[in-house]
Amino acid sequence: MIVSADETESARCPMLPPVLCSPAMEFDYIVIGGGCMGASIAYHLAKRNAGTVALLERNTFLGQESTGKCAGGVRAQFSTEVNVRLSLLSIERFENFEKELGFPLQFMQWGYLFLLTNDDLVKAFRKNYEQWTRLGMKAEWLEPREVGRRFPYVKLDGIKAATFHQRDGFADPNDIVQGYARAGRALGVKEFTDCAVIGLKLAPSNRRIASVQTSKGEFVPKKHVVLATGAWTRKLAHDIGVEVPIDPYRRQILVTKEFKEIPLPFPMTVDMGTGLYFHPESGGVLIGLSDEAEPPSFNEHLNDEFSETMLMTAMERCPVLENAAVKRGWAGLYEVTPDHHPIIDKLGHIENGFVCAGFSGHGLMHAPAAGIVTAEWLVDGAPKSVDIGRLTLARFNNPEALLSEANVI
Ligand SMILES: Cc1cc2nc3c(=O)[nH]c(=O)nc-3n(C[C@H](O)[C@H](O)[C@H](O)COP(=O)(O)OP(=O)(O)OC[C@H]3O[C@@H](n4cnc5c(N)ncnc54)[C@H](O)[C@@H]3O)c2cc1C
Repeated sequence: MIVSADETESARCPMLPPVLCSPAMEFDYIVIGGGCMGASIAYHLAKRNAGTVALLERNTFLGQESTGKCAGGVRAQFSTEVNVRLSLLSIERFENFEKELGFPLQFMQWGYLFLLTNDDLVKAFRKNYEQWTRLGMKAEWLEPREVGRRFPYVKLDGIKAATFHQRDGFADPNDIVQGYARAGRALGVKEFTDCAVIGLKLAPSNRRIASVQTSKGEFVPKKHVVLATGAWTRKLAHDIGVEVPIDPYRRQILVTKEFKEIPLPFPMTVDMGTGLYFHPESGGVLIGLSDEAEPPSFNEHLNDEFSETMLMTAMERCPVLENAAVKRGWAGLYEVTPDHHPIIDKLGHIENGFVCAGFSGHGLMHAPAAGIVTAEWLVDGAPKSVDIGRLTLARFNNPEALLSEANVI
């Protein structure tokens, strides 16, 4: 049985488990995953007046997975043009977030400072810098003395140069998700939380998703099903015969107690030699570092031994942090593709399937642009705002088509 999208869940039989008694619900677009991507895609579809939109999230609240565990960094200082362009469009949307969505966003445009500690980095960033200038960014190239003058908390040992871009910064992930979710709801997006997608049922042709099977019953797509399921995308796609190479990698963060010894404002500071990054957070300092040796897994426990490494690395570059005390820490998952670029594309041979995932640790900052181009693709048949022609799924079958993002932290 199929009922229309505006019939509510209260229409269900209260006597049987929902999965057995719910009538299937029909929507034009079914977006799976209520992180920053899913919330942005659902909003942008609704904004285009594209038809009925359902947003399905297995957790009780939106934005509790990678989105809610991220560092909030927003930057345009990437090495590939497509990443720079996704960032520039997103930054412009973050700057106008409240105007567009009626929801305030804490977006501290205190810049990103990249510290370069060897000749290879200097050479690579020289090239980046030329590209940034060509693309209209007002990034600055800094010599070590200038770094010392402007950012005295940085220990200059080994620093050969640095780059700084004032429009970069960090934003509150929760504001981003809630802003898109609330604006989406106002435009008619139906949100289903505690709604785990158990599987995708194919039509007899094996080329279309006939229905989305969930813990809250069955959803039928009239147009498209979008996978915005971050680190969990591979299995859902694999089960319907499409290989989506996204692997989960544990990444962790520590936040100090109140710490005033680095005067505000100071930028997101990245030591490219080690991958260490830190920025102001709730009166303290947020510290992040990737354990590059760790294999992929869904492990999200804090690794205490690695926390020690993080603190030691942080104190090396910023000695005053010796006086800081850790308040809390957590781990979350990066959703990593082999070339550290997202997949924004049709879902292989599945005619009504689409995937927008695999942002490889940069998804929060790209959520506005990704939502815009996904909606353009689904509604108009082609993305327009950013040329994402290289972010295909098929590129992983052709080593020459792979991209290479050098500024991954
Ligand atoms: C420690 C850390 C630091 C980071 N720092 C930054 C940063 O500074 N800047 C930045 O831009 N990015 C950062 N990232 C990366 C960023 O968090 C992600 O790229 C981004 O959140 C991806 O968004 P998403 O919506 O695709 O995934 P998610 O936020 O993981 O959302 C996917 C959603 O899908 C849901 N889902 C999955 N499977 C199912 C299913 N079967 N049924 C229903 N729902 C399902 C999940 O519950 C989840 O809510 C960081 C990540 C981590 C872990």
